[in-house]
Amino acid sequence: MDKVYASIITIGDELLIGQVIDTNSAWMAQELNKIGIVVKHRIAVGDVWEDIWQALEQETQTASLILVTGGLGPTADDITKQLLCAYFGGSMIVHKPTLARITRLFETVLKRPMIERNARQAEVPDVCTVLENERGTAPGMLFERDGKIVISLPGVPSEMKWLMEHKVLPVIPAYFNTGVVRHRTLLTAGIGESYLADQIQDIEEALPANIRLAYLPNYGMVRLRLSAFGTDAAQLETLLDQHFRLLTERTREFLVIDEDIPLELAVGKLLKKAQATMATAESCTGGYIAHLVTSHEGASEYYKGSVVSYANEIKTSLLQVPEETLQTDGAVSEATVRRMAATTLALLRTDYVIAVSGIMGPGGGTAEKPVGMVWIAVGSSEKTEARQFHFRHDRRRNIEMTAHTALNQLRKFIVENPVRKSVV
Ligand code: ATP
Ligand code: MG
Repeated sequence: MDKVYASIITIGDELLIGQVIDTNSAWMAQELNKIGIVVKHRIAVGDVWEDIWQALEQETQTASLILVTGGLGPTADDITKQLLCAYFGGSMIVHKPTLARITRLFETVLKRPMIERNARQAEVPDVCTVLENERGTAPGMLFERDGKIVISLPGVPSEMKWLMEHKVLPVIPAYFNTGVVRHRTLLTAGIGESYLADQIQDIEEALPANIRLAYLPNYGMVRLRLSAFGTDAAQLETLLDQHFRLLTERTREFLVIDEDIPLELAVGKLLKKAQATMATAESCTGGYIAHLVTSHEGASEYYKGSVVSYANEIKTSLLQVPEETLQTDGAVSEATVRRMAATTLALLRTDYVIAVSGIMGPGGGTAEKPVGMVWIAVGSSEKTEARQFHFRHDRRRNIEMTAHTALNQLRKFIVENPVRKSVV
């Protein structure tokens, strides 16, 4: 087993001026980390020949795998392909399968004439292995020299990801002996990172040298990930299971799910298992909870919809929150979210409901109801539980915290209050 070092080079002026946020290298680094490859450097360079060349020279000194994204487009500022061709001493040839695919794309999908500029995307250096891109026009390219691998991928995140998953990650074992890596992940809620560390200290200390534990906190929840490194997959799985079982048993009280899936999917799984449905009534999150839930395939099995009652008049007209409640208790109050929940449950005819109303900031806070104050109600036709929270972040983060807190509150509610389906 070798220690394999990688570097990620992202190309584009837009990345340097911050117009586009470099999400590619973060995603790629996570994927490499999962298979035990150590990312040494992440570098962003502009669309400048000398800078890209220099980055390549530098990174091939420290890493044996260099992943490059961006600059493969049809416009003049995209120079990566020409540069790689020169760097590896090749000349351009037409890659026939890619040309056929681009031609077909213009004929059948885009329905406009293909111009010379587009056809040139099918040209590749004759010194690379072409990684055919089924998600776009520019193919990926793999170059090999002196035991170093340089892989160039398009900058468009969806194309990059498709190529990584289908063409890059599967071939890495053919070039590097990274060994076998396996992971187990669990999600906890309602317990801080340091308290959690105290609770599992003895388990952590007893971990064998080839198993690592990582704490990954987010949205007030903490994910624990065990990673095991070795050569024998079956042996690794058994060893990992032993230690993972200890962790899940010890954290049972705080355990959300013992899988590496987001909270909204954990809720979805519970609902699916119970053949139950949910809806949302969202004021301050403006549909963000709906967006999270529906970001996953299959959500229609358990999610019916949302009433985004942002304005007070929608709370009164659509969700039947009495005018009087808004005047005496206010829009951010227990009475309001309880009513929002009850009406939505009846309106959308679901088994469960979430209702949220809060002050996300930066303005709009008062001494009595400061920025970050949120009321969350979750319930079923039998029972509703409402709780108040105070978040201390910026607007965006407050919205995210509200959504995740609400989803976790509903998750607990579902576990404690299973729906009784009448058997017909
Ligand atoms: P195409 O062939 O589609 O033009 P390309 O390889 O030329 O792809 P770029 O022109 O660099 O890629 O970027 C294409 C798109 O991908 C742009 O919209 C850009 O904002 C986005 N993009 C580029 N690099 C990154 C990155 N590192 N992270 C996230 N998005 C990126
Ligand atoms: Mg570009």
